Amino acid sequence: MDLFERCYEWKDWKVAQQFGFYPYFTPIESEAGPEVIIDGQRRIMLGSNNYMGLTNHPEVKEAAIKAVERYGSGCTGSRFLNGTLDIHVELEQALAEWLGKEAALVFTTGFMVNQGAISSLIQKGDYILSDRLNHASIVEGCRLASGETIRYKHNDLEDLEKTLQELPPDSGRLIVADAVFSAEGSVADVGGMLEVARRHGARLMMDEAHSLGVFGPEGKGVSADQGHLDEVDLIMGTFSKSFGGVGGFIAGDLEVIMWIKHKARTMIFSASLPPASVASARKALDLIRKADDRRATLWRNVKKMQEGLRRIGYNTGDSTSQIIPLRIGDDMRCLQFWRSLYDGGVFTNAFIAPATPPGGALIRTSYMPTHTEAMLDESLTILEQVGKATGVVS
Ligand code: PMP
Repeated sequence: MDLFERCYEWKDWKVAQQFGFYPYFTPIESEAGPEVIIDGQRRIMLGSNNYMGLTNHPEVKEAAIKAVERYGSGCTGSRFLNGTLDIHVELEQALAEWLGKEAALVFTTGFMVNQGAISSLIQKGDYILSDRLNHASIVEGCRLASGETIRYKHNDLEDLEKTLQELPPDSGRLIVADAVFSAEGSVADVGGMLEVARRHGARLMMDEAHSLGVFGPEGKGVSADQGHLDEVDLIMGTFSKSFGGVGGFIAGDLEVIMWIKHKARTMIFSASLPPASVASARKALDLIRKADDRRATLWRNVKKMQEGLRRIGYNTGDSTSQIIPLRIGDDMRCLQFWRSLYDGGVFTNAFIAPATPPGGALIRTSYMPTHTEAMLDESLTILEQVGKATGVVS
């Protein structure tokens, strides 16, 4: 059989495009702000991770431009060999100091952090306890690891405890979870997880990709917000959301970070984060630490939308964050609904199987401090009209 036969026969994308229900890879013709231009038309952006609205901040842009002028366009090599600049090291020191950890390590993407760190730490005979709704990059890290992965029920500490009780004594154990879950917007109970971890000799790694900048004092994330940052063994973060750029990092004890630094294949065998991204992340970190006003505005916006969406009658699940899903159920219905919102002037993200469990399709909405009252009011009007017209709400 010709290997490519299955590709030529696979028609899902073509059918979706023909019917106009294809919501993916949409080219945006403007910056990633609270409003965007798509197909020449203005649309309100409710599908971005620009949680602090920093992508277009003049100081962030200036830092990137200056870094290009001084260091050029890229490092042309891995951190391990020729790809470490003084600004990579400075950024790592600043991140470690911010989170009160001994050391931090910067990767080229957040995905590579989870893939490389988890797979390098876990060896044969070790166990990973992974929340069932963890991000794909954690799932990939687990798949690459030589040890065994057990997935526990989402945010269910009893199930986590039961799973740990059944493991062979003296086995190495890592509990890993999103702090804010990327599609559902639900928030982990870090204190509860730590208690379970301690009772069973497990280490805890929190993926704070969606919470840094947004939660906690100085935007230090959910673990900090709940008063447990010091006790969490590993904090993972990314620059692709609140930081408004790209790149990722992990922070923890020096010896553990040195292990990951020398053994994670996504660190050793891939080119380093380019100068512009390093410098813009460094500037974004300074701004995030001082961004209490932005955080207050964001949370005001989130509260308004949580209340507004629930008043209209949407099922927003158990979201308590800036990510608010609208639970739809059926995949096709979800794609049709997405298209009606898009035509109405609101851009959202459609999540269907296999990214969600069958029958669990949802529209993911998310918010920024740069959304104005007027933009949010207009979105709610469109969401109400489209929801009623499509029968998603009554
Ligand atoms: N962890 C979580 C929870 C995420 O949502 C994402 C990206 N969506 C990542 C990790 C990967 O981050 P990056 O985009 O920087 O590769």
